[in-house]
Amino acid sequence: MKCPFCGEEMTEGSLESGRYFIWKAEDERGKKQEYLLAKSYMGSVKIKGDICPYCRKLILDIPEVQT
Ligand SMILES: [Zn+2]
Repeated sequence: MKCPFCGEEMTEGSLESGRYFIWKAEDERGKKQEYLLAKSYMGSVKIKGDICPYCRKLILDIPEVQT
């Protein structure tokens, strides 16, 4: 896939973590929110994506979280 920022070819890979990936955000009123992006009961969490080494950007495919 081509990088939407610079147009160079991106490299496929995956981002790996422990048991959770959590995105922390804050809305306009300063209220903090957490979004569970991925979790694993056994082993580690892996999210596939593409990286651009030129812009240092990651584009990730966020899986459906099984609750
Ligand atoms: Zn780029």
